[in-house]
Amino acid sequence: MLDHLKARVSERFDVVYADKLDGISDEEAASLDGFAGWGRIDRKLIDRMMNLKIIASYGVGYDTIDAAYAAEKGIVVTHTPDVLSEEVADVTIGLLINTLRELPHAEAYLREGRWAKEGAFHLSPLTLRGRHVGIYGLGRIGLEIAKRMEGFGVEISYHARSQKTGVRYGYAPTLKVLAEAVDTLVIAVPGGPETEKSVDAEILKALGAKGVVINIGRGSVIDEQALIEALQSGTIAAAGLDVFAHEPNVPDALLALPNVSVLPHIASGSVATRNAMADLVADNLIAWFDEGRSLTPVPECADVAARASA
Ligand code: NDP
Repeated sequence: MLDHLKARVSERFDVVYADKLDGISDEEAASLDGFAGWGRIDRKLIDRMMNLKIIASYGVGYDTIDAAYAAEKGIVVTHTPDVLSEEVADVTIGLLINTLRELPHAEAYLREGRWAKEGAFHLSPLTLRGRHVGIYGLGRIGLEIAKRMEGFGVEISYHARSQKTGVRYGYAPTLKVLAEAVDTLVIAVPGGPETEKSVDAEILKALGAKGVVINIGRGSVIDEQALIEALQSGTIAAAGLDVFAHEPNVPDALLALPNVSVLPHIASGSVATRNAMADLVADNLIAWFDEGRSLTPVPECADVAARASA
């Protein structure tokens, strides 16, 4: 929670609050030793924050932060891994079932009084039964999703940059191979140039007419226009989305489709989990300024963190 983040950080530091990062003055930017929060932090902003030592990002995905440039400048970037993985995986399962069994539509049908007036809700054409689920990104969150999916008795495969040891799910060396093998694609990769629009028309076609896409990674990972066309034409059957290319704007064409279930980027959004994330942000700042170490640096900044604590 933002209040919890503010309370924790202001216990130990003098705090300047900014709703929008590009709105801060040069003087304010130059006065900052540390940053806590989220938003786009590019080279230009890093250069303006000329005394900055740490960017403690409130979230695990940091595709909006130029972490490589921060590392070059000797600034450590930290994020909030692990504390949100289970929460996000829980919501992924909910979104998948909402998408397949149309639970939001069924609830709206009851609330609108249509059950009593018109009779039973239609049978859902889609089901989780008999599905082969492909997880794109078997990291902290992807693994929690896979563990939950095991309980549903479905076949599970995955694609990541590297094959994992100690898991019994089938590994696909490319996303295309995964999409050809499965009928349900769950996206749990980070955003950024490497994954941008990697789920494109070709991948959607490979999933096939029974195909379902669930995205809790980043909106940029899907070519949104190709997704809309695939859903309109029946190239795939349905999609469940927690993230979008241009949040908080969601294309009308997507919302007009009955075979889409949408959430406003809430996968980690419980009070308990957001508080745990805020605690980790504050703990990173305190550890950095009091002890010269960071608790959860992003991989690009591992050297900066190691040099400081050496
Ligand atoms: P991890 O770094 O633990 O896992 C990322 C996974 O993606 C890894 O398996 C990694 O492969 C794989 N991957 C990364 N790049 C590529 C690529 N180019 N091609 C194929 N696979 C790739 O991250 P988390 O699981 O902790 O988080 C994943 C993402 O989830 C976050 O970055 C964020 O964008 C999103 N997220 C969304 C939330 C929401 O509210 N919807 C909340 C929290 C996170 P490898 O293992 O081989 O390195």
